Amino acid sequence: MLFGKTLDRQLEKRPGKVRFCAKCVVSNQRPRITFDSEGVCSACRYAHEKHREIDWKEREARLMDLLDRHRSKNGRYDCVVPGSGGKDSGFVAHQLKYRYGMNPLTVTFAPHIYTDIGWQNYVAFKDAGFDNVLIFPDGKTVRKLSRMAFELWGDHFKIFGLGQKAIAFNIATRFGIPLIFYGENGEIEYGGSVKNKEKPFEDIEDWSELYFQGSTLDELLEEGLQKRLFTKEEARSETFQLYKPPPASELRSLGAEMHWFSYYKKWVPQENYYYAVENTGFKANPEGRSEGTYSKYASLDDKTDGFHYWMAHIKFGICRATSDAAHEIRDGHITREEGAALVRRYDGEFPARHFRTFLDYLGMDEAGFREVVEMYRTLSPHIWKKTGGEWRLRHTVWGGGVDD
Ligand SMILES: [Zn+2]
Repeated sequence: MLFGKTLDRQLEKRPGKVRFCAKCVVSNQRPRITFDSEGVCSACRYAHEKHREIDWKEREARLMDLLDRHRSKNGRYDCVVPGSGGKDSGFVAHQLKYRYGMNPLTVTFAPHIYTDIGWQNYVAFKDAGFDNVLIFPDGKTVRKLSRMAFELWGDHFKIFGLGQKAIAFNIATRFGIPLIFYGENGEIEYGGSVKNKEKPFEDIEDWSELYFQGSTLDELLEEGLQKRLFTKEEARSETFQLYKPPPASELRSLGAEMHWFSYYKKWVPQENYYYAVENTGFKANPEGRSEGTYSKYASLDDKTDGFHYWMAHIKFGICRATSDAAHEIRDGHITREEGAALVRRYDGEFPARHFRTFLDYLGMDEAGFREVVEMYRTLSPHIWKKTGGEWRLRHTVWGGGVDD
């Protein structure tokens, strides 16, 4: 290990006792999720409102008002839509352009390593009629940052997350486009902070807390400088600016507004999938389901993203199948029992398919990788127990943990 420590502040906020939601399969270890007195998670409560209580006609009328305020009359871009051309950004961009007559500029932050299907979907998306700016950050720097993030945050993918979040704002200020449309408010859809539940937009001040989860590029850079992974000169380069939002003053003078499409239109991932297949040439993974889950149509772009989900299993005891099953239970597609069976079968499956590629990318050997994983398991004694030399979950949603 280069550092032998973690900077992930989410770890200390995990409740000391693992509990699962009474309605879905998610646990209270998920960062920022809350459980009410009946043991139901915030995402399930929101899903109930989404399907039963929210007046979607009224929300669409509000969307029309917003779009009428921004729609360009001279062919200029009037909104920025970030995304990979996957099912969700495909849905948002296509709706904005073809249903609401907007003129979006779509922007893509390149994944760590494109998969074939991810690239094909990206190409099909722009070919469906969208202008797109694709940014590949300097590959040498990204790999270094990813290695550091893997060790210090237990998640190399957070680097991509920072870039993906920042790019929409960086492009918005450079092109002078105030309106930015994200897809779903992940915090309320998947369980997290409910702070912005009643709001269509997000304040600039919330970014650091909700999206960057208290982790910023600057703290990584500081560690890198100490270990001489970067020189001071390199740290000032524009490459690093790609991972930071523009200054708040610039965003304010542009009048930047970031809205979630999911506030205005009911967000059902399975329906976005059918919509994107129909309208933006989207294809599910021909290799079948993604490792760690049963789904074939989400997060297909990056060969390394299996390790983002797998590390969540190490740090929080829940992974990709938990998240997918929980959402489908909330949308009424499957029962809690079916969800628990899917979690049992797929959650935490090791992403072996691209393991070698991942190690090469980070410049690590297998022993170094195992050392980091061991550190995060050891930091999670309420989640994992070592018995007979093997780590096992203490609690599972299907009742198969060593302490269940
Ligand atoms: Zn729940």
